[in-house]
Amino acid sequence: MAAPRDTLSLYRQKRDFSKTSEPAGAAEKQAGHRYLIQKHDATRLHYDFRLELDGVLKSWAVTRGPSLDPHEKRLAVEVEDHPVSYGSFEGTIPKGQYGGGTVMLWDEGSWEPIGDAHKGLAKGKLEFKLHGKRLQGEWTLVRMRERDKDKDRHNWLLIKRSDEAASEGDTDTLLTKHNTSVISNRSMEKIASSNDRVWKGNKAESKAAPKPAAKKKPKTKALVTDTMPVSKNRARANGKADVGGIAISHPDRIIYQGTGITKQQLAEYYLAVADHILPYVANRPLSMLRCPEGTGEACFFQRHIAQGQSPHLYDTGIKVKGRNEDYMMIKDAKGLITLAQWGVVELHPWGCLADKPELADRIIFDLDPDPTVPFSEVIAAAKDVRSRMQELGLSSFVKTTGGKGLHIIVPITRSYGWPVIKAFARAIAESMEHDNPKLYIAHASKAERKGKIFIDYLRNDLTATAVAAYSARAREGATVAMPLTWQQLTSSLKPSSFTIETVPAILKKRKDPWAEISKLRQKIATQYLRALKIPLK
Ligand code: ATP
Ligand code: MN
Repeated sequence: MAAPRDTLSLYRQKRDFSKTSEPAGAAEKQAGHRYLIQKHDATRLHYDFRLELDGVLKSWAVTRGPSLDPHEKRLAVEVEDHPVSYGSFEGTIPKGQYGGGTVMLWDEGSWEPIGDAHKGLAKGKLEFKLHGKRLQGEWTLVRMRERDKDKDRHNWLLIKRSDEAASEGDTDTLLTKHNTSVISNRSMEKIASSNDRVWKGNKAESKAAPKPAAKKKPKTKALVTDTMPVSKNRARANGKADVGGIAISHPDRIIYQGTGITKQQLAEYYLAVADHILPYVANRPLSMLRCPEGTGEACFFQRHIAQGQSPHLYDTGIKVKGRNEDYMMIKDAKGLITLAQWGVVELHPWGCLADKPELADRIIFDLDPDPTVPFSEVIAAAKDVRSRMQELGLSSFVKTTGGKGLHIIVPITRSYGWPVIKAFARAIAESMEHDNPKLYIAHASKAERKGKIFIDYLRNDLTATAVAAYSARAREGATVAMPLTWQQLTSSLKPSSFTIETVPAILKKRKDPWAEISKLRQKIATQYLRALKIPLK
């Protein structure tokens, strides 16, 4: 009784994915039992109650929200199925779009039906158990007798059953007590006002990867065979492809609209570069940019692990103060390919290893040029950072981002906490601005960056990330963030030449320009930190 894929068509019809950052979604094959509630400040504030069944999220809009009091019957208006990927969404849907307003992930976890869920839904009485962070125990959804003919919108009642998780007389304290996000701990106001560094969707991405005008299927460009060792003998079973021992569903789904690069090719790219990328992504907390429907559709950042998703994905066990979130990591190539199977295009590690997240193991300078700045200036800025590091006896390394800037990495011994590293990076950025205020800016709003290079030192913090070396980017041309030698950094360098299609072959021919990184455990001279008045703890 699998739900047909088009159970989501109503959801899609109502939304314009070029304007909203919500995921476009696909009915996921594997049956999971996710449960979640999104607090949604739309035309009218309500709580969207969602239960995963048959690869989609069955959804109800609960106007007054859930109550722990078994005598409270809360109106739950049945709405269209949502894609499972939507369950990770928190952020703002643009005004004028369907459902426009702010969405907060209010609760998440899993559910289990009591009895047969399909029969329960059909007869209008669904009984189930919730294992959420905020809601637990047994609940019932009962369909009300229809009075009007509008059969599209059945009205149900959401009722808590009497058990230990119930709370007699508790009408609304639950909702006032928990008025922040279950994953980011942010208030509605905070989510509405932030320009969202946690979840990024179409609005930001669409600039880099413009939505193709034509709906027609782009022609698939053949890959150079020696770059992609596995693509010749594609093992297929049930329409799935085997890449490095991981089953890739929808292998022919186009991930990069402009080029026709498929999900299987993305997985094969990651298999081809696994040995190169793993030192920078394994055993670290990871943020990931997922584009399950392709880079032309909604992409979103994700960094928590959903329970029991795969044996190759691990919980870091890291808890960040004030945030109720799990952070995931991978350990090996299987984990890497599993992420590709999830539709992960970009990998963004934290600057620390998962065993000691409070200690940085690298400093990063993210050079962000205003579009009017020529790339030669960005190269000069990178070399400036390098010589400033050299003056302090520190070796540094450079990579392209697959975008418009460059990243400089300084590997360090794991003995500095984030406040020290951040203060150090900030001091360097400020000294650059001080020495060349026409070209560099250390603290900047978008508008103030005009004609300048923003030296972003804020990548140096506990949960801050930078794209991994060798990560693919969800950007035009399927670019890759590419480590380089300092000698390669010349005016003839074209960052756009490093792509999913070209990089595997390049790696076979060249020596690793970052070979030293893992061997270097550099110290920052204490007198320098003292001079900067950076507390040494
Ligand atoms: P470019 O060279 O085009 O600037 P970039 O990777 O440096 O590419 P930035 O926008 O400068 O892109 O972002 C720097 C880093 O900050 C990214 O690599 C990413 O790890 C992180 N980042 C940026 N935006 C987000 C976001 N919305 N959510 C999570 N992390 C983000
Ligand atoms: Mn950048």
